[in-house]
Amino acid sequence: MISERMKALVQNNSVIRAMFEEGRVMAKKFGQENVYDFSIGNPNFPPPPAIKQAFLDILNNEDELYVHGYMSNAGYESVRDAVAQSLNRRFGTSFTMKNIVMTVGAAGGLNVALKTLLNPGDEVIVMPPYFVDYGNYIRSYDGVLVTAPTRAGDFQPDPEALRRAITPKTKALFVNSPNNPTGVIYSEESIRAMADVLLEKQREYGTSIYIISDEPYRDLAYDGAEVPYITKFYPNTIVCYSWSKSLSLPGERIGYLVIPSEADDSQLIFDAAGIATRVQGFINAPSIMQLVVARCLEEKANIAAYDINRRLLYEGLSRLGYEAVMPQGAFYMWVKAPGGDDKVFSNKAKEHRLLIVPGSSFGYPGYVRIAYCVAKETIERSMPAFEALARELGLIS
Ligand code: PLP
Repeated sequence: MISERMKALVQNNSVIRAMFEEGRVMAKKFGQENVYDFSIGNPNFPPPPAIKQAFLDILNNEDELYVHGYMSNAGYESVRDAVAQSLNRRFGTSFTMKNIVMTVGAAGGLNVALKTLLNPGDEVIVMPPYFVDYGNYIRSYDGVLVTAPTRAGDFQPDPEALRRAITPKTKALFVNSPNNPTGVIYSEESIRAMADVLLEKQREYGTSIYIISDEPYRDLAYDGAEVPYITKFYPNTIVCYSWSKSLSLPGERIGYLVIPSEADDSQLIFDAAGIATRVQGFINAPSIMQLVVARCLEEKANIAAYDINRRLLYEGLSRLGYEAVMPQGAFYMWVKAPGGDDKVFSNKAKEHRLLIVPGSSFGYPGYVRIAYCVAKETIERSMPAFEALARELGLIS
């Protein structure tokens, strides 16, 4: 028999994944073009051509490069050095390869960070709405998930809710900006306010509280919006980046952790993160992908294409009477569930072959998430379905 912990996971298997699978079944039945699958954050656009070129160059120079072997658990030194230099150029930081651990995507990085930091019973704060799998990750290391909801209306972190949530057992706070599912970018003012509360509580309890900054959407910000680099405001920050979304590489599993030298116990955390990478069975981040991304550090996300989708969907939904939050980043739209019940609404949507995820899956009922990292035509074709749904719900007559 499987473990009790896995039994619970099987029972609560991610609604999003289940919906994604359901979408595939529906596509077979009704035809791909008649199902509007907005369930999962799988980028629809191909990676930039430089990625393919980098693969080819690396494989053509296989004799000179150490391409397929084991390496240090933290990753190739040359790659970590290139990542550190690129961050320093972009954000005015002063990292070296000794601050970088290459990871198996953001999910790999988050798990390495938690394995490195948590003792059983340690509390990790999340700010609803939040990425579904955080709870599963935290519980894997016998941590306890504690919530400090964002502010209603603008979905920015709420410093007072954060203050109330912190206890002597608080080990970490998950920050995810640009945010999945709201698309909100946490402002510099919010980051400063959060940092003040954390510093105050660290002093009060004599503890170290780490921000784990989950940043797969950092490079997806619209209208030139700035995404504050949190290590500059709060030294006890571990950054968790991934190229899954920015360069459309989610299946390739590549990202990195930044462990700043200013963080408490920085060297210990770095050493432990390498070991956590190994003992969790990753051993190291995929070798060829490390070499590929190191050659593509200046590549940009296809923000213009996502922006077209963002505007199309926002304008379309608003015209039909839906209340949507205009995303500042990422590729998700957070929409108020008409009638207030997100599960009822997403089930009704499914009857119109619209696959959208109830906010309850993000610890925040009353809203739904629409992932618009799809072909523009999917959004265009889905509008009659959203219209029929709006009519059925009485949003329009
Ligand atoms: N964190 C957030 C907020 C995400 O939305 C996702 C994926 O959707 C991940 C982490 C995992 O990303 P990766 O593919 O880099 O593991």
